[in-house]
Amino acid sequence: MSILKVARAEIRALHAYEAAEQVDDTIRLNANESPHETTIGHFRRPLNRYPEVRPVGLQTTLAGRFGCAPEQLLVTRGSSEAIDLVIRAFCRAGKDSVVVTSPSFSMYWHFAEVQDARLVEVATRPERDFEVDINDILAACDETTRLVFICSPNNPTGVTIPRAEIERLLTARADRSAVVVDEAYIEFGDTGSIIELLDRYDNLLVLRTLSKALGFAGARCGAVAGPADVIRMLGAVQAPYALSTPVVECVEDALSADELENAERIVLQIVAERKRVSKALERFGFVSRVWPSDANFVLIRTTCTMEVMAHCTAHKVLLRHFGGALDDCIRITIGSPEENDALLRALESFREQDNG
Ligand code: PMP
Repeated sequence: MSILKVARAEIRALHAYEAAEQVDDTIRLNANESPHETTIGHFRRPLNRYPEVRPVGLQTTLAGRFGCAPEQLLVTRGSSEAIDLVIRAFCRAGKDSVVVTSPSFSMYWHFAEVQDARLVEVATRPERDFEVDINDILAACDETTRLVFICSPNNPTGVTIPRAEIERLLTARADRSAVVVDEAYIEFGDTGSIIELLDRYDNLLVLRTLSKALGFAGARCGAVAGPADVIRMLGAVQAPYALSTPVVECVEDALSADELENAERIVLQIVAERKRVSKALERFGFVSRVWPSDANFVLIRTTCTMEVMAHCTAHKVLLRHFGGALDDCIRITIGSPEENDALLRALESFREQDNG
């Protein structure tokens, strides 16, 4: 049974944009392009020509890297675009709903609001180390639930949800809701990608990004993986030519062996630094909790959050405060060893000033 049947009927019927044909070694008078090649930049493909409607080569490379078939993957402008596409495709405005755990990545709230999809929050608690209880998620689902977002490792808590628990959710929601597993930070933890279960669950969608471990946030490139029929539908919703030629070529280069080796080295360094910084943070009296994290950030609780934020800002170290249930918490991204040292120095001077 395909999860497609719970997507919006008008979107299911949508035909993908039919672009002008692109054939090498031809005279291309079919797309109202300029015949003059620009000399700006150093691109392999001429910028006067439209890029491919969908970058097929990149799709194949990324599918190979992430571990699925090319037809199970849509390349998107960051995984943010994938969140938007999925919510628009599955949720009818004013009627359908999305279940999310809280706290989590704010973009789910943002795009649900844009689509006027109702958002149902399942709270996780600091006293329980933000553990996600799948029973709570199932209890929050009703007949309007089209999507369940699972962010693992979760932003901003760093918590990984055990594979078996996600499978329980996939089975329980079967052909009623798509379960979207956001793996933006997967490379920083020990758990492998759930993409390998794509062929087993018809309602599994997985989000991946090149913005974090691969270090290409500025290129805006991510992907959504899922059943081929759902990927085809999402492709029909996505703007034609979504990925520009400079981005496609930049990402092709980013996926070269040298760059990947470099990225892997940086991931190892960030994981080691996460351990070092976490330990160092625990020694400050005003830090009452450092939660374990499987991502490239740590969440801490302090006894004087706004003062710490202001002090670090004054020392040109920017941290993230969210408010709400996390009012006494701060999320700290793990930077380079030098950047992390600067953070620890700023906190040291805060302690001295606080004691004085
Ligand atoms: N998912 C999560 C959990 C994130 O934290 C982020 C970025 N902060 C994204 C998705 C989106 O990343 P991008 O659009 O750069 O791929």
